[in-house]
Amino acid sequence: MTTTHEVTNQVPPLTGHDTADYAVFEESLRREGATSALDDLHEVGRLAGTAHSIALGDRAEAHPPVLHTHDRYGHRIDQVAYDPSYHELMEISTGFGLHGTPWASDDPHAHLVRAAKLSAWGPVDAGHQCPISMTYASVPALRVDPSLAAQYEPGLTAAGYDPSFRRPADKQFLTAGMSMTEKQGGSDVRANTTRAREQADGTYRITGHKWFTSAPMSDLLLVLAQAPGGLTCFVVPRVLPDGTANGIRLQRLKDKLGNHSNASSEVEYVDAVGWRLGDEGRGVPTIIAMVNMTRLDCTIGSASSMRAGTLQAAHHAAHRQVFGAQLIDQPLMRNVLADLAVEAEGATTVALWLAALTDRAEAGDEQAAMLRRVSLAVSKYHVCKRSPIHAAEALECLGGNGYVEDSRMPRLYREAPLMSVWEGSGNVAALDTLRAAAKQPESLAVFMGELDEARGADRRYDAFVDELGSAFTDVETIEHRARRVVGDMATALQGSLLLRHGHPAVADAFAASRLGRDRGDVFGTLPTGLDLAPIIERCTPKGTGETQDVIA
Ligand SMILES: Cc1cc2nc3c(=O)[nH]c(=O)nc-3n(C[C@H](O)[C@H](O)[C@H](O)COP(=O)(O)OP(=O)(O)OC[C@H]3O[C@@H](n4cnc5c(N)ncnc54)[C@H](O)[C@@H]3O)c2cc1C
Repeated sequence: MTTTHEVTNQVPPLTGHDTADYAVFEESLRREGATSALDDLHEVGRLAGTAHSIALGDRAEAHPPVLHTHDRYGHRIDQVAYDPSYHELMEISTGFGLHGTPWASDDPHAHLVRAAKLSAWGPVDAGHQCPISMTYASVPALRVDPSLAAQYEPGLTAAGYDPSFRRPADKQFLTAGMSMTEKQGGSDVRANTTRAREQADGTYRITGHKWFTSAPMSDLLLVLAQAPGGLTCFVVPRVLPDGTANGIRLQRLKDKLGNHSNASSEVEYVDAVGWRLGDEGRGVPTIIAMVNMTRLDCTIGSASSMRAGTLQAAHHAAHRQVFGAQLIDQPLMRNVLADLAVEAEGATTVALWLAALTDRAEAGDEQAAMLRRVSLAVSKYHVCKRSPIHAAEALECLGGNGYVEDSRMPRLYREAPLMSVWEGSGNVAALDTLRAAAKQPESLAVFMGELDEARGADRRYDAFVDELGSAFTDVETIEHRARRVVGDMATALQGSLLLRHGHPAVADAFAASRLGRDRGDVFGTLPTGLDLAPIIERCTPKGTGETQDVIA
């Protein structure tokens, strides 16, 4: 065969590395006294980096779930069929305890450890992490009713996966989803029209539609519906105690921008049987306990995506030559990589810190619970908003290859906006922060008190926090300014954590660019005079053992 050319200067695939080999993980676990979990974390990271796991994610993405509304004889079955790769991913994730296990653990760092593992596993496939996250999040909401919690919690927190369509009582392992959003409004759930009628036996019959319900094969769905006493939360199992299918009609699966391995459905409830969770009229506060946990996972997921994008970009730059030098040594590319890395470190640090606060709040620390309330709202807004622009820049670091599906960067890019849309889109998340502060002014005071802890570490930080303190005085215009104020709160929080606990070079770059505002309006505009070498070193993957590419 005639040879036309040799392939040179192409980058080896990033396989065979430990995705948990990221300094922020170890630093965060060490800070919280959770180093005994490091071995387990690295086990997750090593598996996430294997060619097999990467191929599983590719397969699940390439073979989206299929809805079967009827069997061949015309009976309604309302079943979603998933590719075997999806089930294997679910089995691995639940085996690692990424779903409900922290709620059944007596490890004082269970939520932090789970967050680090979820983050390390994140880049494999985002889609299946939706039911993992909803299962995790369902437990605190279920606890509103101890008898329902006793019924379902063991299955939601046991480490294992059973996708069979059977009565929850017959299954050792369960998953849960949530069904709130209707056609006329998702953010404004109080506009829900789905109705619930109480029966003589104390159950309710639920009738109406939901415009978005992900993972509809979950064993139970937490559904909002209008009962006589107002909007109420219900536990609606897919299979009833008598073994028959509940009245849940799956109409269609959404054709989504990304998140292809996950089924997101349109549903109609037709006299579905539901068990009331919490009092009538308390639907929103009840389900908020679930939403708050999925918001934590949105923050963890966006931070994980930023870390993955940064690592891919640094890996590419470390192996690619341009204009006679390694790309990673070109001054302007160093600026871009370091800027991406600083963003990812700030996001990962705050995400893990929020998970650690969850541990403390669960142990009864009320101050931690208040701090978490505001800090989570600001971080859900800010971290999830930064992720799409971060993904676009990371993709560009790979040049044309980054725009091609093989690189998996388009997947990262398509996935990125979802975390901001879901569970309180940008504006709603920003406004939620203001609402929390107005409803519970002491929570804002606790938040500002946390920021004070880092005072004196950096003059740019002190000035930034001083300015933030005056942002709340003009109440008339605060809603108009919500994105700015909440974004600044999130930036200050990340700054305080990095200055106290982060690597000094990362903290300095963060302070100069984000707090001192010495930067342009895109990534790669850090000012001169910063020590970029350790920042880039920390985000460049080491020890890529396998060099074969992955073909799913
Ligand atoms: C892939 C995917 C999966 C999903 N899975 C589920 C699921 O499993 N269960 C479920 O219940 N839902 C699910 N959702 C729905 C999601 O939670 C909603 O789409 C989201 O809450 C926004 O609601 P909406 O689409 O009705 O938009 P709207 O509420 O109409 O919001 C539109 C825009 O208006 C903004 N906005 C709203 N209120 C205000 C205000 N007061 N001031 C200023 N701006 C405002 C919002 O920020 C947003 O940008 C899913 C969505 C997606 C994309």
